[in-house]
Amino acid sequence: MSTEDIYHRPTTLSQALEALAETPFRIAAGCTDLFPATERKVLQGPVLDITGIGELRGISHGPDGVTMGATTTWRDVIEADLPPAFDGLKLAAREVGARQIQARGTLAGNLCNASPAADGVPPLLTLDAVVELASLRGTRQLPLSDFLKGPRDVDRAPDEIVTRLHIPAKATEGQGFFLKLGARKYLVISIAMTAARIVLKDGIVQDAALAIGACSPVATRLPKAEAALIGQPLDVARITGDLIEPVLAPIDDARADAGYRRGTATELLRRTLAPLTPERAA
Ligand SMILES: Cc1cc2nc3c(=O)[nH]c(=O)nc-3n(C[C@H](O)[C@H](O)[C@H](O)COP(=O)(O)OP(=O)(O)OC[C@H]3O[C@@H](n4cnc5c(N)ncnc54)[C@H](O)[C@@H]3O)c2cc1C
Repeated sequence: MSTEDIYHRPTTLSQALEALAETPFRIAAGCTDLFPATERKVLQGPVLDITGIGELRGISHGPDGVTMGATTTWRDVIEADLPPAFDGLKLAAREVGARQIQARGTLAGNLCNASPAADGVPPLLTLDAVVELASLRGTRQLPLSDFLKGPRDVDRAPDEIVTRLHIPAKATEGQGFFLKLGARKYLVISIAMTAARIVLKDGIVQDAALAIGACSPVATRLPKAEAALIGQPLDVARITGDLIEPVLAPIDDARADAGYRRGTATELLRRTLAPLTPERAA
C-alpha cells in the first residue's frame, strides 16, 4: 500500500503525535477547506483524521480564562455558554457557511487554512487568543498574531498539531461584536470583516480590542484606533480613516478591488462599535 492510501483515525492525542512523527500526514478535521481545495474525488493521503480524538474538542472555563479545543466546531461555539466578550466570535460562527458547514468546520481548521478572509481570525484576535501546538518534542504556545505568518502560511512544524486555543481571563472581559461585508448576506466569502471587544466602566472605555480581516495578507489588530477610544466615552466618530488605513494592504480580487476595501473599512468598524455604545447596548 502506498502512503497516499493511508487513512488513520486515532482516538488519543499521543497516538496522533506518534503517527505524525513517523509519517508526513495531511491533518484532516472537518475537511470543509481541504475538500474544496482538492480536485480529486478522494482526499489525497496520507490522511490523519483528528476528529476521533475526544480531548481535542470542547470549551472549558477556568480561573486562567477559556480554553477551546482545536476540533471545536462553529456550532459548538454558537451553542456554548460564553461571556459577552465572545459575542463577536459567536456572530462570526453564525456566518461561516451555512449550518452544515458550521457543524463540521472547526476553529483550528479555520486558522490553519490561513485564508486572509477567515472569519474566525478577527474576533479571536480581539480575544487575545493564544495557539497551543503539540508534537512528540513537546508543547508550545504563541499568540495568534504570531501563528499567522501570511496567506496559507502558519507557524506550524510538520510534526505539530494545533491542540487548543486559550483566551486569557483578562480578554474575557467586556462585550464583543462582529460584522462581515459580503456581496450578499449569507454564504459568502468576506470582502472585509471587523471585530471589536470593548470594556466599559461608568460609560468610559477601559479597554478596546479592534481587528479587521480580508484587508491585508493576515487579519490585524488596529492599535491606533484602540488608543483613540481608551479613556473616553464610546463614540464611533472617534474612528477615522487615518487611524486605520495606514495598516491596511488590501488586494484586488473577484470580490472587490483594493480601493473599495480601503474605502469601506472605517465605516464597517464604526458599525461594529455602534451596538456596543451604552445607549444601544442598554
Ligand atoms: C460552502 C463553504 C462555505 C464556507 N464559508 C466560510 C465562511 O463564511 N467563512 C470562513 O471563514 N470560512 C468558510 N468556509 C471555510 C471552512 O468552512 C472554515 O475555514 C472551517 O473552519 C475549516 O475547518 P475544517 O475543520 O473543515 O478544516 P479542514 O478542511 O479539515 O482543514 C483546513 C486546514 O487546516 C489544517 N488543520 C485542521 N485542523 C488542524 C489542527 N488541529 N492542527 C493542524 N492543522 C490542522 C488542515 O491540514 C488543513 O490544511 C467555507 C467552506 C465551505 C465549503
